[in-house]
Amino acid sequence: MEERGSPDGDLARSLEQGPEGPETPIQVVLRVRPMSAAELRRGQQSVLHCSGTRTLQVSPPGGGPEVAFRFGAVLDAARTQEDVFRACGVRRLGELALRGFSCTVFTFGQTGSGKTYTLTGPPPQGEGVPVPPSLAGIMQRTFAWLLDRVQHLGAPVTLRASYLEIYNEQVRDLLSLGSPRPLPVRWNKTQGFYVEQLRVVEFRSLEALMELLQTGLSRRRSSAHTLNQASSRSHALLTLYISHQTAQQMPPVDPGTPPVGGKLCFVDLAGSEKVAATGSRGELMLEANSINRSLLALGHCISLLLDPQRKQSHIPFRDSKLTKLLADSLGGRGVTLMVACVSPSAQCLPETLSTLRYASRAQRVTTRPQNPKSAVAKQPQRLETEMLQLQEENRRLQFQLDQMDCKASGLSGARVAWAQRNLYGMLQEFMLENERLRKEKSQLQNSQDLARNEQRILAQQVHALERRLLSASYRHQQGPGLTPPCPCLMAPAPPCHALPPVYSCPCCRICPLCRVPLAHWACLPREHHLPQVLDPEASGGRPPSARPPPWAPPCSPGSAKCPRERSHSDWTQTRVLAEMLMEEEVVPSAPPMPVRPPKTSPGLRGGAGVPNLAQRLEALRDQIGSSLRRGRSQPPCSEGARSPGQVLSPR
Ligand code: ADP
Ligand code: MG
Repeated sequence: MEERGSPDGDLARSLEQGPEGPETPIQVVLRVRPMSAAELRRGQQSVLHCSGTRTLQVSPPGGGPEVAFRFGAVLDAARTQEDVFRACGVRRLGELALRGFSCTVFTFGQTGSGKTYTLTGPPPQGEGVPVPPSLAGIMQRTFAWLLDRVQHLGAPVTLRASYLEIYNEQVRDLLSLGSPRPLPVRWNKTQGFYVEQLRVVEFRSLEALMELLQTGLSRRRSSAHTLNQASSRSHALLTLYISHQTAQQMPPVDPGTPPVGGKLCFVDLAGSEKVAATGSRGELMLEANSINRSLLALGHCISLLLDPQRKQSHIPFRDSKLTKLLADSLGGRGVTLMVACVSPSAQCLPETLSTLRYASRAQRVTTRPQNPKSAVAKQPQRLETEMLQLQEENRRLQFQLDQMDCKASGLSGARVAWAQRNLYGMLQEFMLENERLRKEKSQLQNSQDLARNEQRILAQQVHALERRLLSASYRHQQGPGLTPPCPCLMAPAPPCHALPPVYSCPCCRICPLCRVPLAHWACLPREHHLPQVLDPEASGGRPPSARPPPWAPPCSPGSAKCPRERSHSDWTQTRVLAEMLMEEEVVPSAPPMPVRPPKTSPGLRGGAGVPNLAQRLEALRDQIGSSLRRGRSQPPCSEGARSPGQVLSPR
């Protein structure tokens, strides 16, 4: 029978109003440890007195004013471990966990105040030596109660456990198969914060669970300091997962995430400590700082949760790993029990008062326990319909499989499981593939942008060089009979029909330099072009392609090699250049990866991409170089010879 006014009774009453009932406050129970032998030897006095089962009175030494604190239950130094187990209300949490709720029990207090003792009993006296049953803590007693309860349920229940510690802000798996390595804390919408890749072990007996507990306890970090010979240097979280499905019935879940269902989590916090009081140095001091920081973050979250205005706003659970993992217990949908532990010694009074204030505030923090079933009820209509359809399809497939002539009766179930696994695997593969393709696409996009930029710069350079080349050619061949200059950007402007007349008449085109349609005044009349092109006399009896274009440097009288005697390749190169100049402006739209190689030489194709422009640039540079050289060695035969510098000056 529940004690009247006990935490078990209070919690039961508040939750009986339904899973979506009013907010439930965090239950706080206070435990006062007895004076230690060392404290008694030093002649220290107790400053704490219990008054009734729920009130604690603090009488400061020296006759200061008494202070009283009220909690769900106050358990003084005379109370045994069994008393604490019965009075603290943990069995009610076990019941709720069996119904699918997420429940947390955590101990809180100064270092050496009895937190670990309350949860797991005194430190083991040797390797593999179990704690005497009379001294076993809340955890061992709850395990025994829960397994007994499950046996009498008469329905299949799958029990699993995980055990981790937060040491120096790193999460370590205390049940890992190899040596513990730091694990990341993740968050998702359905599960909130969870530890990825944490080992979750299924167990079927109390012995197996006790073994897991012993393994974790022996791996947990602890050190000796002035206030505690076996001080825990980490926060430890042991979680029991309770599911009413057998392993075969459970839907496949991501192996990195924790199982769904009811939860009962035991948190043994490392104690707050004053480094000066514990005499911590070096590594111990680092540990103490990290412990204090995370406890400070916890205190800060609790303060904000208490403020009715701020409760709706941001609570900085992300400030530490501890607050992340306790987020659901403190401000979420869980049911929480806090066992605050204090030392009665006068020497510990400041820390004791701080713990008492902290615990009084915590019992005003409320959570809204949520049953997983009600979460399902809140799912959007679409999801529910989808779920029903899938269930129906599953039934149909199951029926079809059963109809098939399977020799082994267990075969159909195995096939369904295989198909589920297979589909899930395929889905994962598709997701990975999708992710990879997305990355590839963005890389291609980047390289395309780069290529476009490069192409634009090269096009500008080519354009500038073309102008310089034409300007140089024009200056070399200045003489009588030239048409008026083009009103383009060049000064002095070369005539637009400096373009080779062997090609089509520029009147019909736009000027490749200034990009404006050429007016007739800027061009020799068509009839003047034709004889030049077709008259063999005028052309010296050579094919048009072999004749020097108008911009070719005129032959100097003393020159050994007149343009007329130049090699065919010389003029072919110039012609190629001319062709390039006549081509359309390069449009920077070539894809970075051509599907097939171009049929013609890239050097002759406008808009074929960066290599084409680069070659054109190179050819123009060569051409200018050779123009320069010729300019130096053969001064133009026209009057007023210019220096090469003048010739090639861009403007
Ligand atoms: P904490 O975990 O708060 O740092 P411990 O649980 O390790 O403190 O307790 C410190 C010491 O006090 C241990 O040696 C423990 O056995 C002893 N102790 C704590 N509480 C009690 C108690 N209620 N009865 C007897 N010994 C206790
Ligand atoms: Mg401890």
